[in-house]
Amino acid sequence: MLKINQLHKSYAIGDSSLHVLKGIDLSIANGEMVSIMGSSGSGKSTLLNIIGMLDEADSGDYILDHLPIKNLTEKKAAVYRNKFLGFIFQSFNLINYKNAIENVALPLYYQGLKRKERLEKAMFHLGKVGLKDWAKHLPKELSGGQKQRVAIARALAANPKLLLADEPTGALDTKTSYEIMDFLQELNDEGKTIIIVTHEEDIADMTKRIVRLKDGVIMEDKAVKQVRASQYV
Ligand code: ADP
Ligand code: MG
Repeated sequence: MLKINQLHKSYAIGDSSLHVLKGIDLSIANGEMVSIMGSSGSGKSTLLNIIGMLDEADSGDYILDHLPIKNLTEKKAAVYRNKFLGFIFQSFNLINYKNAIENVALPLYYQGLKRKERLEKAMFHLGKVGLKDWAKHLPKELSGGQKQRVAIARALAANPKLLLADEPTGALDTKTSYEIMDFLQELNDEGKTIIIVTHEEDIADMTKRIVRLKDGVIMEDKAVKQVRASQYV
């Protein structure tokens, strides 16, 4: 699915620069469910944003689905993002003035589908996350867990090959977090490749492989026996 070699990233801060990623090597195969762990500021989001083509590395190689990601125009990058990638964020990032079904339908706009098809497809994905009856509700009328499920439906609407989640349970209580993880595990069971950034050990234990970042390098990368979330929900 993806292969990263000797990836470096620094941020300019005034006159100095902060070297955040210092030679990352990482390969992820189709069907994996991986967590990226590390303390706050260790570069997890930076790495995920580069994987998600929201940001670019300073040096190193990144190949996503056989495609070298380098010097792409913003337009090309947007096309690949829409085609390959689905995103889930800690703060849900729903559009406040659009209801649930409109939020889910949004990425389909870029696929050139007609409005009726977009809404049908969006309803299908809302149904998959158990929110058919909430289609007409605005984000402010939904609980945190429901909002994250709308965000998952939106991320899945365009059928991405890779799902990227940055602290998807960071704003949720434990029970709701496990419900979301149960859902992500089921998606992975069906074959979806998923990368989750988290700093919570119990969430990482629900993936199949843990990559630990420290001081800009990968200090550990190991397979783990997946704890199933369904036993807690
Ligand atoms: P994490 O997600 O592990 O908490 P981040 O990848 O968000 O870490 O950030 C890594 C480091 O880079 C932090 O010290 C952060 O302050 C810094 N950083 C992140 N984004 C920027 C930016 N756009 N400009 C400057 N510094 C940044
Ligand atoms: Mg982060």
